Order: sequence, then structure tokens, then C-alpha cells
Amino acid sequence: MTSTRPAQQPLKSLDDALAQLLGYAAVLGGVEQVSTFDADGRVLAQDLVSALQVPPQDNSSMDGYAVRCADLADPSLALPVSQRIPAGSAGTALAAMSVARIFTGAPIPAGADAVVMQEDCDVQVDDRVRIQTLPKLGQWIRRAGEDVTRGAVVLSKGERLTPAALGLAASIGMNQLTVAHRPKVALFSTGDELVMPGEVAPEQMAPGAIYNSNRFFLKALLTRLGCEVSDLGIVPDQRAATIDALRGAAAKHDLILTSGGVSVGEEDHIKPAVQSLGHLDLWQIAIKPGKPFAYGHLGLGAASPDGSGAGAHFIGLPGNPVSSFVTFLLLVRPFLLKLQGVPNVAIQSIALPANFTWARADKRREFLRVRRNTAGDLELFANQSSGVLTSAVWGDGLVDNPPGCTIAPGDVVRFIPFSELQA
Ligand code: AMP
Ligand code: MG
Repeated sequence: MTSTRPAQQPLKSLDDALAQLLGYAAVLGGVEQVSTFDADGRVLAQDLVSALQVPPQDNSSMDGYAVRCADLADPSLALPVSQRIPAGSAGTALAAMSVARIFTGAPIPAGADAVVMQEDCDVQVDDRVRIQTLPKLGQWIRRAGEDVTRGAVVLSKGERLTPAALGLAASIGMNQLTVAHRPKVALFSTGDELVMPGEVAPEQMAPGAIYNSNRFFLKALLTRLGCEVSDLGIVPDQRAATIDALRGAAAKHDLILTSGGVSVGEEDHIKPAVQSLGHLDLWQIAIKPGKPFAYGHLGLGAASPDGSGAGAHFIGLPGNPVSSFVTFLLLVRPFLLKLQGVPNVAIQSIALPANFTWARADKRREFLRVRRNTAGDLELFANQSSGVLTSAVWGDGLVDNPPGCTIAPGDVVRFIPFSELQA
């Protein structure tokens, strides 16, 4: 049996692998307009410049009375209410020696310089209002433009839109946003042992058969990243059929993602099929879990200027579920964000103390499944095997442990929360 890779291929560092991969991720051509309602998770393809200030004018942050502080020198004096200003209406200039009834969000009338909340006012039988404590100048006034000034860039090209960002875009009047195209991703699973849940009942599974779990989390992760996913199932186990399936997928997708079949020495149909349609590099990345990884490109002739017709990227993930999951988060996720025009895809880690012992140093960089306890320390999942998907569900993130390092309780380690990686 011959192997398609040299026997002594050196391990590639994660940083080198990521840099190389991102080098291949040319931003997809073209943009589209979507309703702001539908833009969650999409990547903005334009700077959003505000044509107005937010809030548009000084307004009250309390239900109460708008006053002139200078009129309140005598605390025994009760002042008449000269106008009523609910939110959505504009009052008139505040007459001297009077107060204005005002509600949260209503514009401050000209001449008023503070708001007194209604709890601090004494409304008398004749409806005059006595202010019990002298307000500070500017009290309970939200200033015009304190959120957004006119001409400010509130969101920049390349930013990934969050729910809060959609609200901010709406606050400057944007009902449509220009965003990057969704990457089109074809997803294949490989492995003759794989059975789809629902096709065979658990008690009827043949010896050696396992359910296809990778397909489910990969599809969900891709969808969360804004991709249009074609789930193409389990790749057929004949060479010609595999080539046909990949060629068909390459014509219509930006990325073909597979799991399984990239381990050392494995004979499968994906590798020769990709090689016959383009090129394939098999990498051994110095991380644990997740060492085997493949990047390739399926050519379809000359690229057109908008990037279409340039063929498709190919990424082959390892089959072990946790390896597949972790390599997706560390490599495929930044790749897909870069395709959509996100300029900075670096993964942020947080320094947190470990509450566990990791006695066995590995020469590879490790990504341990851990979770934060209520004290903010990290607990380790007992079984760190790359096949134990429970670890990734129990955990709420990864400890990024450098090569050759052991960990003792109290050591400060680098933690990457899943909340960041799975968003
Ligand atoms: P491979 O990378 O193909 O050598 O697979 C490594 C391990 O992962 C084997 O135990 C496979 O059975 C398992 N595996 C591969 N693909 C999947 C999948 N889609 N779902 C669950 N386990 C898988
Ligand atoms: Mg396999």
C-alpha cells in the first residue's frame, strides 16, 4: 500500500497552517442588500455612516418635571405646571417660574436645564409642584448625540453583525444593509462505517457501524457562520462517483468540506478524487486533537473577475468528532469569516486560573475541553480523547496549552470560550 504523503512529513504549527489557509481565502466577490431584520450574523460590506445624531435632541431619562435650576432657589416655593410633554411630542420654551410635566424620551424644552424625577416632587392640591431637593444642572438629561454624532461611522465594513449592531443600524435609519454574499458550502461525510440516525435503529446497528455525528455539528456550525449549506450526505465509495460528486459540487460552491479520511495512510476516494480535479495538500498540524487536515483546490478553468468560475476550495477535516469540531473552530471558522471579508479573525483567549492538574506534557499544542466553575476557575473534563464528544458539550471552552507544558492547580492558562468560537 502506498501513501500519498512523504513518510516523514514535518508537523506544521497551527499558526503557520492558519496563515497559509487565510492566504488562500480571497474575499468572495459581490455584495447583496438584505433587510436589517435578516442581517444577524452577516458581514457588513459597507461602512455605515450616520446621517443624524442619536439621540436627535436632548431628552428626559425620567418621568418627572423639567425645570430651570435658577427658579428653585427657594425650596418652599411651589411652581405651576406650564405644559405637558409626552414622548413623541415637542414642547415649547419653558416659561420662567414654571415647570413642565415630562416623560422618559420626551425632548427637553428650551430653557430647562434639569429634570427632577416625579418621586422627588410634591404635587400640591392646586397642582403646583414643590421640588424637595435642589437638582444638579443637567440632571436626568440625555444629551443629543451622546450615542452617535452626525457623520460618525457606527459600524465598519468587515464587521460581523450582532443583534445589538442591527439595533444600532436601525437607530440611524437603516432598513437595508449591504452585506457580503453567504459562502456556499458543500458538506460531505466519508466513512463506510457511518449510518445516518433514523435510518437504522440503535438496537439494529451492525457491528462496527456508528452514527454520523460530525455531519450534524458541522452543518450547524456552518449555518451559524452565515453559510448556505448543501448537505450532500455520505460520499459514495467508488472513485468515479466521488469524482462526479466533487466536480458537481465544485461548480456551485465556494468550499467543499469533508470529514474523515485524511488520517495518515488512509485509503479513501476523496484524496485521489480531489487530486484528479485540482490539488490537495495533506497537513499534519502540531495540535491535539486534530492533527490530520487537508487543504486543496478544485479548479474549473480560468477565474472570472468576480471570482466565480475559479473553482472551489477544499478542506478535509479529521473524522474523530472532537478533532473535527476543534479543527473547524480553529481553522475553518476563520477561513469562512475571511471569505466574507472579516479582516481580523484572530481568536482571543482569556487568562484564567486552572483548577486541575495536567501532568502529561505533549509536544503538540493542546486544546483541552474545560468549563468555568462559579469561582471563575477552569475544571477539566476527565476524558480528553478525540472521540469523546461529550467533552465538547460538557465544556464551555478550550484551554490553549502550549507544547511541552504541564498544568498545576492555580496556574494561569489561556481559555477560549465556545461562546466566541461557536457564534
Ligand atoms: P478517519 O479520520 O476517517 O480515519 O476517522 C477517524 C475516526 O472518526 C473513526 O473512528 C471514524 O469512525 C470516526 N468518524 C469519521 N467520520 C465520522 C462522522 N461523520 N461521525 C462520527 N464519527 C466519525
Ligand atoms: Mg474514515
